[in-house]
Amino acid sequence: MSTLLPGRTIGLLGGGQLGRMTAIAAREMGYHVRVLDPDPACAAHGVVDGQVVAAFDDVEAAHVLARTCDVVSYEIERISPEVLDAVTAHAPLRPGAHVLRVVQHRGLQKTWLARHGFDVGPWQPADTLSQLHDAIAAAGGPVRIKVAQGGYDGRSQVRAEPGADAETIWHQLGGRPCVVEQEVALLAECSVLVARRPNGDSAVYPPARNWHEEGILDASLLPSGLPSALEMIVQHTAQRIAEALAVEGLLVVEFFAATNGRLYVNELAPRPHNSYHHAEAAGATGQFEQYVRALCDLTLGHTGMSRTAALSNLLGDLWRNDRTPHFHAALGVPGVHLHLYGKEPRPKRKVGHLIALGTHPEEALERLAEARRRLGHPMPTRPLRV
Ligand code: ATP
Ligand code: MG
Repeated sequence: MSTLLPGRTIGLLGGGQLGRMTAIAAREMGYHVRVLDPDPACAAHGVVDGQVVAAFDDVEAAHVLARTCDVVSYEIERISPEVLDAVTAHAPLRPGAHVLRVVQHRGLQKTWLARHGFDVGPWQPADTLSQLHDAIAAAGGPVRIKVAQGGYDGRSQVRAEPGADAETIWHQLGGRPCVVEQEVALLAECSVLVARRPNGDSAVYPPARNWHEEGILDASLLPSGLPSALEMIVQHTAQRIAEALAVEGLLVVEFFAATNGRLYVNELAPRPHNSYHHAEAAGATGQFEQYVRALCDLTLGHTGMSRTAALSNLLGDLWRNDRTPHFHAALGVPGVHLHLYGKEPRPKRKVGHLIALGTHPEEALERLAEARRRLGHPMPTRPLRV
């Protein structure tokens, strides 16, 4: 049994908002937390016991971090194999390096999923300009072209219509290997969080329903309010993926439910996820506490939900002319809670989120919409119907 009791030290590669919220949960439970992040003013700064200020490819710094930790995890996926080796010389890395290898590269990830029987939808790799040209031509409809490594929040991806100029897109994406996905006609998007301990015990959360704007998560509802047959399938699928990958920690699986009746796996994240920030408010165990439990091989928390919570990201764009948005007014809506990450507000940058609680989905969504209206950040015009 590898249980790490409170008092031990958790190391995190990455001190963004996910690292910050993990550190807060871990310290509440009596753990020490140290992060590695190149930014001395990163979001986790100030809530951790210590920070190694270094780049994510700094092998020496990884040794320095891991030497003082009992377990190490990560909130980012862009970590070099050398850094992973440095960490594992001192402490267990959870989830393991084999998980990162699969997840880090969109093409590898899709190939792995397909090989294990999970439907990822039609796609083609494009490692060269000429392959990109051929893949766009072969798709026969709109496509989403994404760099194979390093993109997030809809960055480093482009939507293209048939006949689009491959060369322009290739250069726009930095001349890097890509995947070319057929655009899916979406009925709904959802995600599922699975926690899995080193001893093999796992716990799956109810799905969250997600709405994106320009590739960035805009709103999310937990539990999803989607038909229970669909909820059961995605939960089962996510649990099978976590099992097949032997994840120790958290795994979030993003799904596309298509209008053609098919269900596709969009992508995997082996860490806490934006679409589960409201788990703590709606249910018994927040994702960050569950993450700590899984990393430390403790009994996992109950994943049932007793309320509904709706979530909205707050982007830096809201700070117009350097003025703090009207949080006072938004917090006047019953059941609304504010989380800010201590990040400098910049356009398209996630700097916080709002959570609205309700006794049922419509109430949670209506409260969220009202809070957003008061912030001058109304919900998109298309109805947020459940
Ligand atoms: P994040 O890290 O925030 O999850 P990402 O940069 O990894 O984002 P994706 O999850 O690949 O990006 O895509 C972001 C969103 O763009 C999706 O959730 C979906 O709304 C839309 N999208 C991406 N690919 C497709 C597709 N093939 N068909 C339809 N919509 C898509
Ligand atoms: Mg995504």
